[in-house]
Amino acid sequence: MINHSEVEFNLHDAAQRIKLKAISLGFSACGIAPVHALEEDARFMQQWLQKGNHGTMTYLERYAEQRECPDLLVDNARSVIVVLYSYLWGQQQPEGAPKVAKYAYGDDYHYVVKQKLQELADYINLSIAPTHGRAFCDTAPVFERRWAQQAGLGWIGTNKCFIHPEHGSFFVIGELIVDLEVAYDMPLEGDCGNCGLCVAACPTHALTPSGEFDATRCISYQTIESKEDIPTQLKSLLHGYVAGCDICQDVCPWNQNLLIKSRLSEPVRDFVWEMTHADWYSISNATYKKVLKNSALRRISYKKMRMNLQANLTDSLDEKNKIE
Ligand code: SF4
Ligand code: SF4
Repeated sequence: MINHSEVEFNLHDAAQRIKLKAISLGFSACGIAPVHALEEDARFMQQWLQKGNHGTMTYLERYAEQRECPDLLVDNARSVIVVLYSYLWGQQQPEGAPKVAKYAYGDDYHYVVKQKLQELADYINLSIAPTHGRAFCDTAPVFERRWAQQAGLGWIGTNKCFIHPEHGSFFVIGELIVDLEVAYDMPLEGDCGNCGLCVAACPTHALTPSGEFDATRCISYQTIESKEDIPTQLKSLLHGYVAGCDICQDVCPWNQNLLIKSRLSEPVRDFVWEMTHADWYSISNATYKKVLKNSALRRISYKKMRMNLQANLTDSLDEKNKIE
């Protein structure tokens, strides 16, 4: 536990230095929220799970207490330092290429973000105060979008993505939960108003006008999380996606100014630009693993990827014949 009387620092100065360091590490934004129990979110999630909206993602049923109370993840937790890591590349995949969600264009974000958060933790330890903490990026039961909202970074959109007023929604969220107190940001109370563009654009009606989200109808779930073949009634609605889906983010007004920009500092995987349906379908299991080494898509098995490719071609017998 930190003895603040022995460590002289100004709470505002410490927060400011943490945020500046986060930006220098390549994060688009950083905010800090005080740790507290997220009872309302826990209740909402419980109801969502009870309706079976999570399909086979049974891991979401576990660690409910830790998700609600971050001090069960980190002893004496005081602050949630939230960072946004942009994965917007600007360029689009070639017409007709098997579509993958933009977050998978580069190296696996789980490792990239956690490594940068560890650097941030090292900086805090060395330059601000000795601190105990843990870094997460989609790797632990954390209400990451709620913490981002509590840290003043934006709001949770109707498409269930987190929206930052300047950086849109094409980013992943990372958290560093620490036992250090600093000055905190005020939660941002934004909302989508009566936009509804994402609901109208969602081809599978996973999003509803009343704000519900059925993950089992979502293309991301069907192409990545589910290990089964895609249900027949959804196969003609995939819009070319074989891994993930960006449709409800592509149409969001908060992303429009960003879609023309590109980030050239990170390598984009060759498979994103170069591989056709036939290429994906004809490679061996060993080559598949090699192509997707250190990619977030590695969690899609070889067998499942072949199912996804086939599902996309159900409307095009000519194309299908080409790969059989
Ligand atoms: S990711 Fe695609 S399928 Fe899922 S909610 Fe968004 S538009 Fe619908
Ligand atoms: S498309 Fe509109 S309703 Fe959907 S998340 Fe963006 S602003 Fe909100």
